Parts: sequence; structure tokens; C-alpha cells
Amino acid sequence: MAHAELLARHRAVMPAWLTLYYDEPIEITRGSGRRVEDAEGRSYLDFFAGILTNAIGYDIAEINEAITAQVAKGVLHTSTLYLIRSQVELAERIARLSGIPDAKVFFTNSGTEANETALMLATQHRRSNQVLALRNSYHGRAFGTVAITGNRGWSATSLSPLQVSHVHGGYRYRSPFRHLSDADYVDACVADLRDVLATATAGDVACMVVEPVQGVGGFAIPPRGLFAAFREVLDEHGILLVSDEVQTGWGRTGDHFWGIQAHGVVPDAMTFAKGLGNGLAIGGVVARGELMDAITAHSLSTFGGNPLATAGAVAMLDYLENHDLQANAAKQGTRLLAGLRAATERNEIVGEVRGVGLMIGVELVEPGGDAPSPRAAARVLEETRARGLLVGRGGLHGNVVRLAPPMTLTDDETEEGLAALTAALESTRQEMT
Ligand code: PLP
Repeated sequence: MAHAELLARHRAVMPAWLTLYYDEPIEITRGSGRRVEDAEGRSYLDFFAGILTNAIGYDIAEINEAITAQVAKGVLHTSTLYLIRSQVELAERIARLSGIPDAKVFFTNSGTEANETALMLATQHRRSNQVLALRNSYHGRAFGTVAITGNRGWSATSLSPLQVSHVHGGYRYRSPFRHLSDADYVDACVADLRDVLATATAGDVACMVVEPVQGVGGFAIPPRGLFAAFREVLDEHGILLVSDEVQTGWGRTGDHFWGIQAHGVVPDAMTFAKGLGNGLAIGGVVARGELMDAITAHSLSTFGGNPLATAGAVAMLDYLENHDLQANAAKQGTRLLAGLRAATERNEIVGEVRGVGLMIGVELVEPGGDAPSPRAAARVLEETRARGLLVGRGGLHGNVVRLAPPMTLTDDETEEGLAALTAALESTRQEMT
């Protein structure tokens, strides 16, 4: 079979640690709206938006036009040493949207580079290599970002130029504070932060990096107000707050444009990537000017903010605003979350269904108990695929099914995805019990 041969070639020349969701992954060859097609002509509703990259779906005419217009100029890229009109416009838009006073923007090609840059800015500004991060976090795959990643399965290497301490607060379901009320949970996490600061750091910490909703960590959602409470402690020590918005940006959480805004906090810097280019490689950092200017040596990114990616990204932001997609993310997310909760109430392999906007996680457990069940998640991915639905997976134990459809999702598609996922969860339950 053609796809079996492609997989064998992939395995022969690409590393084994490169994550593939399926034993027999499909090859996606076409996309339109919220649907993709594989090389054998099968169609799938994509409830993971690529990997939260296709924020508004596939084959969007307005984005295609913006990219094609740039291609027609004959310049895909020359050098970011020169002025690029769409790059400046995009920086202005993101600076304004950030709500960060006196904001400046630096563009990269990925979320990893964005977070590495934020770490450089904060450590340079504060003259400290000490950093705080959340347990169960994921921030990327370079030296600084693997160090702040709080998930051994994704940390790649234990060597790092940073001194990192991890605190509670991200993943509640399996934390020792799980059964506390929201207010007590926040208090317990703040006490943990204070304890970590006093016992595991020398005090002069550069920054704390947080994901407002942990993505790879299984769409774990801290109670509102947690980061405001953290911020008070950080301010006592002059520690900067960096919000990693790689998954939570662009209105995906429904009620806010940036995930951190749900906590009533304006961070010192935010990092972004994934959905901005709707499939084009672009990321970046938006930070207070003073922080951005901490670097005085020359620095640039050869491809970061290139004309093709920035032209596409400007078109993506236009589309997002013109179609009020943040509101749609809230509407479809609420519907999906409620539907899924109702449909799985009596499914004993479902430990928790949680979500905000179009970031919904289904934590799977072994029947009759609460032990994490990665085998159930693997099965659900196969069962959904067989029903024409693509979903994501994550969590510390690989036991969380993740839903993050394009923000253009329609009512009918929400119902279609809900029905396919409910059936997949039910047949997985039957197989396991
Ligand atoms: N930060 C978060 C929250 C992410 O989810 C990811 C990727 O999944 C990254 C950073 C790294 O981004 P990239 O894979 O574009 O380097």
C-alpha cells in the first residue's frame, strides 16, 4: 500500500522520537473548511485544526489571495535586514491587541523560538538565570524551553543553562490539591509558589512562564484568578510574568483574545505561534519595550517575520475579526462541552471533561477506578478516525483526548464531531469492560 511504503521510508530516515499519533498514520493531501482528505480519498472532520495551526480551517480564499499576491511579487524572502510592510503592520496589530503598555514585537518561526527569546529577554533584563514554570507544562524543544517544560516525557534533555523550579497550579486533576474548592486551590498553589521561592531559588528569579491553559499537558485549566494571585507574589520579588499563548492565543478560549486575560492579568511578555499563520510558520514575542530592549547585542532571525508568513498572518487576523470567530469559539465550545458532559456522564472510562472555548479535554481512566488510561486514549483515536473524525491526544500520561477544532466550526459540524466522539468513547468503554 502506498501509505505503508511512505511510513517505512519515514521510519528509515526520520527519528523514532518524532511523535506520530497513530501506528499507521494517514497522509493528508487536501483540505477545505474544517475537513481534510487522505491520500486514499477518505474525508475527515478535523477536530484538532492540524495541531492548533489551522486556526480558521483549510483553503481560506482570503489567506490564499494574500499569499498568492506575495508570490506574484517574486519575493518569498530576501532578508529580514530590510523593511517588510506586512511585518510592520502585523507587529502594530499584535502590539495593540496585547494590551501590554509600550509593547514591541519580535517575530520567530515557531513557538519554541518565541519562548527561547522570551527567556533570553527576561534573564538578560533581570541578570538571573533562575526561572519558574508550572508542573505539567510544555514550552518547546530547545535548551531553555525543554528545561522549563514540566513533563519528563517531553523534556528531551535534562541539561540546561537555566535553573528552573516548577510549581503547582497547571494540572489540577491529579494534583494533591484536587479536591479543594477553587479559592482554596488558589491559596494552596500560592503557598507552594512562596515555598518554592524560599526553598528552591536564590530569590533573584528572572521570570515565571505559564500556559494559561496547558496544551500538551491535556487542556488543563487553572481556576480563574490563579495568575492574578501569582502575580502579586511575583511583584513582591520583581519577577516578570511571561504568558505562553502558543495554544491559547487568537481568541481560541472564547471569552478572551489571550488566555491570560481570563485571570485579569497583563503579563510582561506573551509568546505566540501556531494559529497565527493558519498553517504558515510564524511565531513571536510581544513584550514591554523596556524588556524587549534588554538585548543590546545584534540579533535577528533570518526567516522570522518573512513576507510570505506575515502577509498570511495579517489576512488571518482580518478574517478572525471580520467573522467574529472568538464569539464562535465561545458558542461552539459551550455547546460541545455541554454535549460531551451529558453524553459521557455514565461512561466509566471518562474521568473528567473540561474545557474553555474550543480547547476541550477528555481525561480517560481505567474502568472502575481513576488510574490514567493511555490505552483508552490510543483506542479512542483509532475509533474516531474510523468514524471520520481527527482528534488530538495529550496529558502527562498520554490519557487525555483533546479537541481543538478550527474556530470557523459550524453548528452541524459541532454535532457531527460530538456524535462521532461519543460513539468512539462508548465503543472503547465496551471493549475495555
Ligand atoms: N508552547 C506551547 C504551549 C506549545 O503547545 C508548543 C507546541 O506544541 C510550543 C510552545 C512549541 O511550539 P513549536 O512546536 O512551534 O516550536
